[in-house]
Amino acid sequence: MNKADLIIVGGGPAGLTSAIYSARALIDTIVIEKMLPGGQPILTTFIENYPGFPEGISGPEFAERLESQARRFGARIITSQPVKEVLRVDSGFEIKTEEESFFCNAVIIATGTSPRKLNVPGEDTFTGRGVSYCAVCDGAFYKDKVVAVVGGGDSAIVEAIYLTRFASKVYVIHRRDQLRAEKILQERAFANSKISFIWNTVVQSIEGEKKVELLKLKNVKTEEVSELSVDGIFVYIGSTPNSSIVKDLVEMDENGFIITDNFMRTNIPGLFAAGDVRSNTFRQLATAVGDGAIAANSAEKYLGELSWKR
Ligand code: NAP
Repeated sequence: MNKADLIIVGGGPAGLTSAIYSARALIDTIVIEKMLPGGQPILTTFIENYPGFPEGISGPEFAERLESQARRFGARIITSQPVKEVLRVDSGFEIKTEEESFFCNAVIIATGTSPRKLNVPGEDTFTGRGVSYCAVCDGAFYKDKVVAVVGGGDSAIVEAIYLTRFASKVYVIHRRDQLRAEKILQERAFANSKISFIWNTVVQSIEGEKKVELLKLKNVKTEEVSELSVDGIFVYIGSTPNSSIVKDLVEMDENGFIITDNFMRTNIPGLFAAGDVRSNTFRQLATAVGDGAIAANSAEKYLGELSWKR
């Protein structure tokens, strides 16, 4: 039956945490996930800063644990069904996927973000043939090869360090001369003899015959253009919100992140948002999990008031 009290769109850490809390509170809960449950951790090699795991934990293992915990309390998890649209209907919300429609009284949007693209010539052509957005998925293909990582944030630096397990050389190409990443990560990267930094530089194009062979780079200070031979390029330049399914429904900031209050309530009663898709948040695993718990609690209160009114 395609009906539930609460539907959570997105099966990442925020969505699965909401599911753990709501299902455990005996709310009939469905999670709809576009691919596999787990979200960003599936694509993360190692998580070091999540409290309670002093030795760290692999991203995929963490994702599996979240999923099994949500299922244990009775959440129904539907996979491989991208949600196309969320509509407000008389009795609550209609959640449309390509295949079917679901109905619920309250909904939590926990759809996260997608990697930002460089938008340079060659990027789309060579995606999967040397251009990657996921070191944990593709890193092993680059044993003893030369790769570049673009970006200067935590993701770029964590994944550049990870790639040194396989690659003989990792170039980090950053548009400024200072990294945005945490100091502890910076120190590790600077101490790693396989990593070299190319500062004040952007990628102009990605070139090759059948796969990536060359990057055309431009120094933004001197305007000098140069070439760098690489076998692969990993793009880690931040992310954009997966919020188009509610674009005509909820209030968003100028970058498309969903605006909520501290209780994860949007401007639409019964519609909540949690995790990275939310505006003005510190985008971390720990905060996503916190958002998920708050959103579930707010949804529970909303559903309680709704049944009292009926
Ligand atoms: P981010 O912090 O937004 O960093 C994006 C990086 O890409 C910045 O260095 C930025 O340069 C650069 N950039 C943005 N647009 C660019 C463009 N068009 N061309 C070239 N460079 C561009 O993104 P993130 O590293 O993916 O991190 C996202 C969130 O996840 C952050 O809150 C981060 O702390 C968190 N995270 C944490 C960890 C951890 O281990 N603690 C690991 C991964 C992610 P500028 O610096 O010049 O803006």
